[in-house]
Amino acid sequence: MPEYDVIVVGAGNAALAAAVSAREQGANRVVVLEKAPEELRGGNTHYSGGLLRFAYDRADDLKTLVPDAERQVSGFFSGVEPYPAARFREDLMRVTEGRSDPELSEILIGRSYDTVCWMAKQGIVMEPAVSLSAVRVGNTVKWSPGAVIRARHEGVGLSKMWFEAAAKRDVEVRYRANVIGLTHDRTGRITGVSMNDPNGIGELTARAVVLGCGGFEANPEWRARYLGRPWDHAKVRGTRYNTGDGLRMAIELGALPHGQWTGCHSTPIDADAPPHGDRKLTDKTNRLSYPYGVLLNRLGRRFFDEGEDFQFYTYAKLGGIILNQPSGVAYQIFDAKVADLLEGRYKTGKPTIAETIPALIEKLPLDHGAGRQTLADYNGAARSGAFDPTVRDGLDTPGLALPKSNWAQRLDTPPFVAYPVTGGITFTFGGVRVNERAQVMSTSWAPITGLYACGEMVGGLFHTNYPGGTGLMSGAVFGRLAGAEAAGA
Ligand SMILES: Cc1cc2nc3c(=O)[nH]c(=O)nc-3n(C[C@H](O)[C@H](O)[C@H](O)COP(=O)(O)OP(=O)(O)OC[C@H]3O[C@@H](n4cnc5c(N)ncnc54)[C@H](O)[C@@H]3O)c2cc1C
Repeated sequence: MPEYDVIVVGAGNAALAAAVSAREQGANRVVVLEKAPEELRGGNTHYSGGLLRFAYDRADDLKTLVPDAERQVSGFFSGVEPYPAARFREDLMRVTEGRSDPELSEILIGRSYDTVCWMAKQGIVMEPAVSLSAVRVGNTVKWSPGAVIRARHEGVGLSKMWFEAAAKRDVEVRYRANVIGLTHDRTGRITGVSMNDPNGIGELTARAVVLGCGGFEANPEWRARYLGRPWDHAKVRGTRYNTGDGLRMAIELGALPHGQWTGCHSTPIDADAPPHGDRKLTDKTNRLSYPYGVLLNRLGRRFFDEGEDFQFYTYAKLGGIILNQPSGVAYQIFDAKVADLLEGRYKTGKPTIAETIPALIEKLPLDHGAGRQTLADYNGAARSGAFDPTVRDGLDTPGLALPKSNWAQRLDTPPFVAYPVTGGITFTFGGVRVNERAQVMSTSWAPITGLYACGEMVGGLFHTNYPGGTGLMSGAVFGRLAGAEAAGA
């Protein structure tokens, strides 16, 4: 008889959703194996903004999740637009250039609302994502469709609430438990894991194993191998423990790689951010108000259409674009007109400030002549018109070879500020193929019996880019599914 019904590898959102779901569906002995020590537990989930993107037909559908929202934001329910499945699908397909796996994306989208309600029942308390999603103009609050709700106290809260939910269900959690391999019998059925913990190297047996142990974003050698230069130099926004171990173990056993192995989620972060995520700062190094300003590289040139779309549809690819600029840095430049629109997270940074544009450029380590010219050209092209941060306002820059397609106001109101940014890696897109039961598929396109995967390990959903709030939702949907299936294995 195996020691456990289900072994879950990892202790982030996906893994803990799997563990709770396995217990709910009848697995008696469930253990979570976490590589990190207890004080660093919780994977990227701890560092996240806790934002959840899911489909809902009516704003009233959110009442189950945030019944008290109007106390926090008056008129909340009348201000939120519906986000039906068709719109979620359209967003996901648009930003991934039509490449998101159709079967997996249907599972993600189709089960997103039901799963977020299930999370709430498990004790995950939610709130309106005011500082992430709300844009306030006068007395109106406009929400980014589909990305309106987050876990209370963001990723720190989400991780804590998941551990509490797991404890309530008597899930055992072992820390410093570094899973290093999968064991199997002669039929190929998974029988457990081998691991390295403070007692040495040993094995644990189970009827089923769920892998929820993240991507390879914290492994510079794999970043160099799959993402290429300059990704080995990237700062890691989250945990240092996601080194591709689960992917390696599964692939060694014949699992089918899936999705974009050269792709990752990467965002503009403070150029002075630490090399790995800071437990206290979490996602506060993010710099996502660039649609309201202008981006310059060290050559003093623009290199990205800052107003291509709302931030939640461009931020996840912009980090990589910045990292590929000279020295891997860029400068986000704003004038005083938009100071109130900058996300609160900018307060954690140290901007360069000047009363004129030439004086600002002089203070920055970039080609001064080119920088002055670029901003003069930009100011010459920016039109006067109705600036509206709540819609794609079409305020563009006719005549510029690289347009700014929306929100292109002249930089004309001092003081002018510049925030230095680099590209921080969040998570990798390459993973393994899972089927509709979250079973890991083998290269012979048959499920590997007893092996399930969830979270960042699921390949195929994201390519090149990603709509904000989808990582946690995908983790919860596939985690819940994997846990339930593993319970019945
Ligand atoms: C700064 C930041 C902000 C983000 N904000 C958002 C957001 O607001 N909304 C959103 O949807 N997504 C966000 N994301 C992405 C989101 O955090 C991830 O998609 C999600 O947390 C991944 O969940 P997971 O359970 O797959 O992995 P993780 O939460 O990373 O968990 C992986 C776990 O596996 C463990 N592990 C790794 N290897 C082993 C091993 N060999 N043995 C045992 N355990 C192992 C790790 O220690 C960790 O506990 C953000 C990410 C970051 C870094």
